[in-house]
Order: sequence, then C-alpha cells, then structure tokens
Amino acid sequence: MTAWPSSAAASAEPEMAGNPLSSLWLWLGATRVPEPWPEGALSCPTCHRAIAGSIRPGNRRTRSPSVPHSLRSSDAELVELCVVDGEIGRGLEPRPSDPPAERASALAFADACDRGGEPDWASMIRAAVEEGDVHTGHALALLYRRGPWSADAVGIDPVELRQILVDIVCQWPAEP
Ligand SMILES: [Zn+2]
Repeated sequence: MTAWPSSAAASAEPEMAGNPLSSLWLWLGATRVPEPWPEGALSCPTCHRAIAGSIRPGNRRTRSPSVPHSLRSSDAELVELCVVDGEIGRGLEPRPSDPPAERASALAFADACDRGGEPDWASMIRAAVEEGDVHTGHALALLYRRGPWSADAVGIDPVELRQILVDIVCQWPAEP
C-alpha cells in the first residue's frame, strides 16, 4: 500500500515556501484568476494527460497552488507523478465513467476532512467539485499528495482515493 506523504516531508521541499492551501483559497475565492488547471498543469510524457494536482513551475506570480515535486522534472519522474502511469494508478483499473458517483465520493472525502478537523481541505474539495470534474481530479490529487494528516486521522482509505483519481483522470483528454 502506498504510504501517505507526511507533512514534514512536504514542508521540506523548497517550492513549499507558500502554503498551497492558502494559494488555493486565493484562486477559488477570486472571480478572475489565471487558471492553474488544466491549462497550467504539467503533462505526462507517456499518456499526455495533465498531471493531476500540478502546475508548471514558474507560476508563482499567479499565486497558484504549489507544484508537487516540481523539482523532479525528468520524463521518468513526470510519468511517475501521472495518475494513470505512475504510482497512484498502479494495480488499479479505471471503472466505467460515472461523474455523479465520482462527485459523491469527492464530497464524502470532504465530509471526512470536516470530521477529522480539516475544514480547509473540506472546503477546497467542495469548491473544486463545484468547478467540475477536472478541478475535482486536481484537488483530490493535491489531497492525496498533500493532505497534512494520516489517512487514519480522517478515515479516508488511500486506496479508495487512488481509485477515484484513476476513474476521473482516465477520462481526461490526452493532449500532445
Ligand atoms: Zn500518463
């Protein structure tokens, strides 16, 4: 099973000087902010889908969310970050597209965050669900990679979270 990244490891990365959650708030709360997703996302060299939860480096000016592992920019490393081709999707098959069920799952994760004392994460996920499935996928990837707690603390099964990510991101277009 994939271990959840610790917040200590996350905060050790240089690009994490800003708080990604507060950046997300700025983005979600603004009426007109440069779209970090999907246009600003890094893309996978293998399947050419956007890498969920990422934006291209150098977008700090836009106050967009920080890039997970942005310093790892080799093709192999980008592929590893891809939901479809990397560790998140390993051993999982996409289920038939069911956007209402995917939204319901995302909202259930938000409820779990609320119950676990993580209201900011809950609000971010709900706002992303309002934006649509692309934003939901990016937000859930951010939750998976950046959730500042252990899975047990909020009762989210990381395998279930990975499965929803695979279900959503497999529907994304491949854009070479
Ligand atoms: Zn890929």
